[in-house]
Amino acid sequence: MNDEGASDERPALTRRQLLVGLAGSTASVATVGTLGYARREPTDRLEVRLWFSDRAAGYDGIADRVRDYLKALLSDEHWELELSVGGTVAVSTEDGARVTSGGEWPTTLASGAVGVGDVDPVSDVNLLVTDGQMTTAPTGFALPHVASVGGARYLATLPPIAELGTVRDGEVVHRTVPNERPTRTIQILLHEIGHALGLEHDHGVAFRSEETVVATPMLSSYAWDPDYKQDRSRCGTVYPSTAGRDRALSLTFSTCSRRELESYSGGLTL
Ligand SMILES: [Zn+2]
Repeated sequence: MNDEGASDERPALTRRQLLVGLAGSTASVATVGTLGYARREPTDRLEVRLWFSDRAAGYDGIADRVRDYLKALLSDEHWELELSVGGTVAVSTEDGARVTSGGEWPTTLASGAVGVGDVDPVSDVNLLVTDGQMTTAPTGFALPHVASVGGARYLATLPPIAELGTVRDGEVVHRTVPNERPTRTIQILLHEIGHALGLEHDHGVAFRSEETVVATPMLSSYAWDPDYKQDRSRCGTVYPSTAGRDRALSLTFSTCSRRELESYSGGLTL
């Protein structure tokens, strides 16, 4: 059973499917018509904005903690990260997957884009953190440029990021962390951000570190899911056998994922 990870089986959504999905929710066609996608040169700026459900925002220090993690984990020499906190959002469900798959969060963003409500979307990733459960998949969901994930109560217990990972000569060389609830939750948050930017599960890899198999954010718990059939990443890295080995998580996107992100050129235009 793969019930405690980034198990969010979903077809790759085309823009048309997204718009049909949005139109099927309460967004008016006119509102939805304002969402568009721009092609541009591989980006030198990555805009990521975070929102929290009222309940998620109730955990002390959560916005600073999540922002610190994302600042460290999404920084890259290929873009200037513009990370911001959009504030709190009233939601009808804390379910971190359903709030997007059911259309509520995309509709709120679409409405904000035309000046209804006070949610102001950015062009690359609009991420909503809720206090939804993290034990039964799906726990998060993503569409192009739109993502949500539950688990605020676990994110609030994460240690400062400076206390995680391997530091060599003052530089972090790898962010391998234990496979525990708070670290799994932040990895799933990265996983959904990756999907929002166009990454798929097989952009991720797993690798051995002695007797431990370490999964990167896009592969995540699929690394030890017997139903996940792929045996290698789309870049050709073969996944190791996990039988009898310990499990750990990396909070660093694989080289395969980073290569794809470096050519990312889409953006939501409003
Ligand atoms: Zn996924």
